[in-house]
Amino acid sequence: MKFSINDILRPNIASLAPYSCARDEYDGDDAIFLDANENPYDTGYNRYPDPMQRLLKKRISVIKGVAEDMILLGNGSDEIIDIIIRSVCRPSGIDNIVTFIPGYSMYDVSAHINDVELRSISLTTSFMPDWEEYERVANENTKITFICTPHNPIGVAVPLVDIEALCSKTRGLVVVDEAYIDFSSEGTAVSLLDKYPNVIVLQTLSKAWGMAGLRLGMCFASREIISVLNKVKPPYNISSQTQKIALSLLCDVETFQERKNEILRERERLLVELRKMSIFTHVYASQGNFILVRTACCDELYRYLVDGGIVVRKRDIPPLIGGGIRITVGTPQENDLLIDLLTKYNTHIG
Ligand SMILES: *Cc1c(COP(=O)(O)O)cnc(C)c1O
Repeated sequence: MKFSINDILRPNIASLAPYSCARDEYDGDDAIFLDANENPYDTGYNRYPDPMQRLLKKRISVIKGVAEDMILLGNGSDEIIDIIIRSVCRPSGIDNIVTFIPGYSMYDVSAHINDVELRSISLTTSFMPDWEEYERVANENTKITFICTPHNPIGVAVPLVDIEALCSKTRGLVVVDEAYIDFSSEGTAVSLLDKYPNVIVLQTLSKAWGMAGLRLGMCFASREIISVLNKVKPPYNISSQTQKIALSLLCDVETFQERKNEILRERERLLVELRKMSIFTHVYASQGNFILVRTACCDELYRYLVDGGIVVRKRDIPPLIGGGIRITVGTPQENDLLIDLLTKYNTHIG
């Protein structure tokens, strides 16, 4: 398949001369810097951060097995989603993006903000993308197809072969959002990067790595795509504080593994416990760090849990997941409290 990002860019992005930072032209760190109107007195933060986040990317490259120049970092994945849409989609009803619903709503919000047409397709009853419907809905102006896997809020993973089939037949970009990939037994679409020039993989440090407060999203794609996105991103989008802290936390792989494994064990324990409760009509197995349950008393149960000091996420989206509640896997102690509260409710109702 012949694909070049340059063929699908918005004309204004294709012709964009990137903003050049003062620090882009000099790349040592032993000079007297009088080039960026910074304050010369050291506060710890008086210098602008590295706009290309070189040290951090070097570390991420090792962990993820992706070349440094095939990585873009964003102020959360949410910023990257916006940058991709803005780079390729002509607004005002010309281009469109395709998403599957119910799903992560940031794609829809970002399309809306950018005045880009949204074509949403319902998942099948087995919560997989409906590829037949996709053939009908996508057209030559479909610039991006978003696939969330493992899926938020249901927790199913889309088989890699299905994603590969999509990459080989669409003329647009395929953005695979793998926010929960570290919790999943399905392989990552990073393995498709060498084969398909139109695939973009999004991951994040917000979930398994425990850095939601830092805001650091990762984007893996071809060098050609990354260089376009680099032009569009705000030059100093990752603060020096964020770069420094993320780098140090990414060096402690042992703690990461231990906590991730604990979350996986707790997820399976929660699944067993929740499935014992008759209030739930469905308790879905999950490849993420959450479990979706469905109940006829969704609003009441939500209130009851809040009153008991536990906040969960209502995901009551009929018809597919009517009465849905998404429960994040907590620490063993937190999960014990949740199970206690739910058991009381279940006995009382049942
Ligand atoms: C949590 C989540 C993200 C992560 O967003 P950040 O902006 O990186 O925190 C991305 N996609 C999905 C589907 C998510 O659930």
